[in-house]
Amino acid sequence: MIYFDYNATAPVMREAREAWLKVTEDLGGNPSSFHRAGSRAAAVLADAREGLAALLGCHPLDIVWTSGATEANNTVIHHFARTLDSKSEIWVSAIEHPCVAESAQHYFGKRARLIPVTREGVIDLDWLTAELADTRPGLVAVMAANNETGVIQPWREVLAMCRQYQVPFFTDAVQWLGKMPARGLGECDYVSGAAHKFGGPRGVGFLKVPHQRRLTPLLLGGPQEGGRRAGTENVPLIAAMMAALTVREKQMSEHQHLLRGLWRDNFERQLVRSVPGTTLVGAGQRRLWNTVLALMPEGDRKFQWVARLDKAGFAVSTGSACTVGKEAPSHVLAAMGFNAAQATRAVRFSGGWETTEADWSALLKAVAQVHEEMSRVKA
Ligand code: PLP
Repeated sequence: MIYFDYNATAPVMREAREAWLKVTEDLGGNPSSFHRAGSRAAAVLADAREGLAALLGCHPLDIVWTSGATEANNTVIHHFARTLDSKSEIWVSAIEHPCVAESAQHYFGKRARLIPVTREGVIDLDWLTAELADTRPGLVAVMAANNETGVIQPWREVLAMCRQYQVPFFTDAVQWLGKMPARGLGECDYVSGAAHKFGGPRGVGFLKVPHQRRLTPLLLGGPQEGGRRAGTENVPLIAAMMAALTVREKQMSEHQHLLRGLWRDNFERQLVRSVPGTTLVGAGQRRLWNTVLALMPEGDRKFQWVARLDKAGFAVSTGSACTVGKEAPSHVLAAMGFNAAQATRAVRFSGGWETTEADWSALLKAVAQVHEEMSRVKA
């Protein structure tokens, strides 16, 4: 199986597995216990906190460990729902992951305004500039890079605008981390991440919050994480997460990104040639170097593509969240101005740090083969 679904979950790194095993076997105490076993587990957490803070550029006490990005993102929105007055709005980009979008909708309803995006899938900075000059929302949320399109969002510019108007800024950095350098993210007020997107295990993540400000916890019932998130920390998963992120940060280089981006671009160029009628999404924008989102030819359905490629030995995915047998139209594509029919043809190919040029070539051959099969079926 050649794996092209890194944006869903990246393969777990050896270093992460080893760190998990070591902490599980050797450091079994509860980090809140006073005895030595507890202190040793607490020391692992302290190290991880310092390590992550150093990578992001923030204070170690800004880090809150969570069960993943869904929890981290819900925590931020919930906090503002509990602390803002009943008239305040929050502004979230129209392409946020559902765990931000649905949470904003749930807690704020109409007071959650959507920041529009262009046809190319990047948030409309002119809209934001004009609106911010007029109104002050209680929070602005713009993800660092989109999970479906890979389009990089201008989070640094939005951060600067929010600073100017003293509006808190939150970025979901789930797809950014591990693919782009973490440095600078710590300047954002709120940042979320999930280990399984950068070679760590599933079910663990973090939230960066300003430690000087109070955070209303989502989970109650314990003093862990400075009273900001109740529940015993999953020390082995946290150690594994940090092992993976540390490796990724060391491996990363401008040269690697350029090279891998070229393999991806080459795949895209040949894809539109070998499968006529294919449309690339967001290809004119700055994107993560690993992601391709393609609308396959008219009449094709994304699940047929995913299933046939799976049979051929390639793991790819549809662009948006889906449940078995049910197609959820992508709110990201809708926000970009694509219609529902176009959205049913969206297939995402997301490679990663272990993907080779030969893997992209093999994928291209398989795609051409599947296209031929599907054309025969249609004829
Ligand atoms: N945010 C983004 C941008 C994502 O891509 C995902 C996962 O797909 C999440 C949040 C949620 O992460 P998790 O499922 O690990 O909680």
